[in-house]
Amino acid sequence: MRTNLVVANWKMHGHKKEVTQLLNALKNGINTSATKDSKMVICPPSLFLGQVQKELAETGIAIGTQNAHPQNEGAFTGEVGFAMLREFSCSYAIIGHSERREIFAETDKFIAEKFAAAQVQSVIPILCIGETQAQRESGLTESTVLGQLQAVISEVGIEAFANAVIAYEPIWAIGTGLTASPEQAQEVHAAIRSFLAKLDQNIAENISILYGGSVKANNAEALFYQSDIDGALVGGASLDAEEFLTIYAAA
Ligand code: PEP
Repeated sequence: MRTNLVVANWKMHGHKKEVTQLLNALKNGINTSATKDSKMVICPPSLFLGQVQKELAETGIAIGTQNAHPQNEGAFTGEVGFAMLREFSCSYAIIGHSERREIFAETDKFIAEKFAAAQVQSVIPILCIGETQAQRESGLTESTVLGQLQAVISEVGIEAFANAVIAYEPIWAIGTGLTASPEQAQEVHAAIRSFLAKLDQNIAENISILYGGSVKANNAEALFYQSDIDGALVGGASLDAEEFLTIYAAA
């Protein structure tokens, strides 16, 4: 069965006091929300994981990491591994976000290594795939997105997707205020699902495919109404409790 997920990617934002305020608002909001069928996942900067773990204990709100190194330990200055993250109750990991692909030059191969390493530690990878504006305008949306997906499948095998999440995030829509229309997003989500169905029908039917790219309180419902959209990966709007709770309620 597909799970509806609403995932907060705080990116490199927040300070201790703000984190507590935001989490308190989410905990209060989620208690009074009628929506219990969807899962909320918070991915803070790693530095705040101890605080978030304490403050979210027994709330049912899951914790994720924005990044990790594929090795569990070693001479990798500045990095953290999935085994460490498990100690902070991380159960999800954003993998292959376009900011990591572009700014930190992460390759498909490295992304696939992280995907596999996350699963070894029972962390569910949320694999991000998406096209640039130029690729969309050249009619390369599907080939780009499916190519990124195939690159990981070639390394880890289709079976690994039985316990994974995919996030379709058009790069031109991330942090820009431009959102794919519900129809544009649905078209790509359906293409992803039918690509997977050719490899494994069961996985295709059961995997959650999230949409990400300027999801806000005022566009979430129309996106979630689409049959192949199973939730959202939310950047900017996840830093505002009211906005984020409205998106969560829409899921
Ligand atoms: C993201 O960072 O994954 C994202 C979708 O950001 P935003 O919601 O701000 O576009």
